[in-house]
Order: sequence, then C-alpha cells, then structure tokens
Amino acid sequence: CGIVGIVGSEPVAGRLVEALKRLEYRGYDSAGVATIRDGRLARRRAEGKLVNLEARLAAEPLAGTIGIAHTRWATHGAPTEANAHPHFTDGIAVVHNGIIENFSEIKDELIGAGAQFVTQTDTEVVAQLLARLRREGHGRRDAMLAMLRRLTGAYALAVMFEDDPSTIMVARNGPPLAIGHGQGEMFLGSDAIALAPFTSEITYLVDGDWAVVGRNGAHIFDLDGNPVERRRQVSNASA
Ligand code: GLU
Repeated sequence: CGIVGIVGSEPVAGRLVEALKRLEYRGYDSAGVATIRDGRLARRRAEGKLVNLEARLAAEPLAGTIGIAHTRWATHGAPTEANAHPHFTDGIAVVHNGIIENFSEIKDELIGAGAQFVTQTDTEVVAQLLARLRREGHGRRDAMLAMLRRLTGAYALAVMFEDDPSTIMVARNGPPLAIGHGQGEMFLGSDAIALAPFTSEITYLVDGDWAVVGRNGAHIFDLDGNPVERRRQVSNASA
C-alpha cells in the first residue's frame, strides 16, 4: 500500500513505477497508474507484482506529464484488476490508502441517487461522491473539501480531475503523505523514500490536511478550508 504522484514537465509513467518500487516493502497485491494524456484520463492496472504493471505499460505505454500511481493492499473487495486503483468516475481519478469507515452509508446514498458502482472497494465512494458534487455545480476545491468532510476513517488520497491537467489534490488522515518540491515539478508520495530519486525537499502533511499541488508548489488547507503552513524539511532518505 503506497501512493505516488507527479505534477511534471516530463513523462511520468516510468518514474511513477520506479517510485512505487521504493514502496514495495509495505506489501501489496495489485498496482496501477493513471495519467492525463491529450486531455483525457488513461490508466494501466495489474494484479500481483509491479513487473505485471510494467509489462502492461511496455505493451501499451502511457504518455502524460501528470499522474498518480498506487500499490494496493486490499481491505474491501478482492485483489482483482477491476478493484485495483486508480478508480475512475466521470473524469475523476482516485488512489487511496486506508479504509473509509462510513463507505457503505455513502455508497447506499449515492446508489439511491442513481450512481453505478463498478468496484467492490470502499475507495470508489470517494470518486463517486466527488463526481456527484461536481455535477451539483461545486468547483474542484469545493467538491474536494465537501467530500473530505463526509469521510470518516483513515486515508491518504490523491485525486486528479480530467478538466484540470495541471493539478493533483491530496489529503491525509492517518496514513502518511509527503509532498516533494522539485524544479518546476512537484511530487507526492507515502514517504520520503519514494521521492528520494526526485527531491529531498519534503513537506509532510498533518492529519486533517489537504492540498492542491501544481507544478510550482502546493497550497495546504485544513478541513475548514483555511490555508495552513507546514514546514519544508530536507529528507536524508537516500536515492
Ligand atoms: N481500502 C482500499 C481498498 O481496499 C485501499 C487499500 C490500501 O490501503 O491499499 O481498495
């Protein structure tokens, strides 16, 4: 179970998989990567080890200079390709580590409003809820905040919106999440070890933080929507 992401200026798929390898020590049963390519979300996913995902990518490469990737340790839903992250709903891509405790309540409500779920995961409620909030007219940030305020449980999250190919949104409540500062590129990951090949300049999110990450920096907020400052540190994780 690990998360990585890059808001970049160079292709990201290969680098995302390299970063996921550095999180293999946490254990996982499937993996996936998504980018925005020519304005559209695209993904490759595979059961089992990262070599399987690499084979998929070799057969069908994934272009794009922004992307998120995930190693999954299944808690809700079997470790199949269909349940592997990133999850896509209506132009929204989500990766998640942790457990959404109130997922079944949210899922029942969304199904009652017409949503069609395509996975057995707790995570899919995040994408489906964001999609509904967008349809109701919320902007991306408002939707993110409203979605997070509905969740109970543990999460590290990374979200891409197809209609904004320059930004990744992240959130943390429980599992760790680090933002890495590069030169005209920004990174995110479950720990500084994953990001060590790219940067040693790290900002750790605190529980209850969420952030909007662009190529030139990150804006961090609390669950009231107020900006917060988090110290930038120099990691000694070795590349
Ligand atoms: N609960 C989520 C799932 O089962 C995420 C698991 C994880 O942390 O990798 O898909």
